[in-house]
Amino acid sequence: MSGWVTVAGLGPGSDALVTPEVSAALAEATDIVGYIPYVARVAARPGLRLHASDNRVEVERARHALELAAAGARVVIVSSGDPGVFAMAAALFEALEAAPEHQQLDIRVLPGITAMLAAAARAGAPLGHDFCAINLSDNLKPWALIEARLRAAAQADFAMAFYNPRSRSRPEGFARVLELLREACGGERLITFARAVSTPEEQLVTVTLAEATPEMADMRTVVLVGNSATRRVGRWVYTPRSA
Ligand code: SAH
Repeated sequence: MSGWVTVAGLGPGSDALVTPEVSAALAEATDIVGYIPYVARVAARPGLRLHASDNRVEVERARHALELAAAGARVVIVSSGDPGVFAMAAALFEALEAAPEHQQLDIRVLPGITAMLAAAARAGAPLGHDFCAINLSDNLKPWALIEARLRAAAQADFAMAFYNPRSRSRPEGFARVLELLREACGGERLITFARAVSTPEEQLVTVTLAEATPEMADMRTVVLVGNSATRRVGRWVYTPRSA
């Protein structure tokens, strides 16, 4: 039996937002590998082995998946949202670089609905023009780089999506982000806090940067900041398609 590794995105939370392609891979799998809360989203069935691991061990987890597949297992590595967005797909290729003996394995990446797109759809169309996505966690990059990218994005008038807005190691960082944005974009700019999108705990709130406070975000929140043309229409927020 020949093994394979598929890295799959489970979407933002709701089962309705898991793609049929991902469901089919899960149905064929012998082994599920991933961060504890994501593995918990996969329905148990006889013969399916679940390997849940803690956060911050992504590359070891990916190496384990490669080893299981090399021994004949059909392995799905699960991520939330899309696996290519601040998630396991890049960790898998990092592990593969370090283990060239596995490069002939059957490896696939299956996309999922990433948090910023699920959140944007709920809000209206805040990412309707050019935008960028920034991971505010400083686990894997220096804080100075985050600030430099924020300034450049504001300067370029991109709408922005922030993942991991309040990292455990630096909870004060998000207060600094709001300050920097107020300086760069002014207090009237719209900002949307979208928490636990597509789950029963979903909460969305849009305020101006002047009204925004750090406590409006936590690690289950994706934050969307408009560009200079982003505005409200009724209860919606949208960014016009033209500059
Ligand atoms: N691969 C994931 C992102 C992983 S980083 C994706 O594509 O969505 C984890 C961050 O994603 C969280 O800190 C939060 O900012 C965001 N996130 C994930 N699921 C979310 C949800 N249902 N609602 C809001 N934000 C979410």
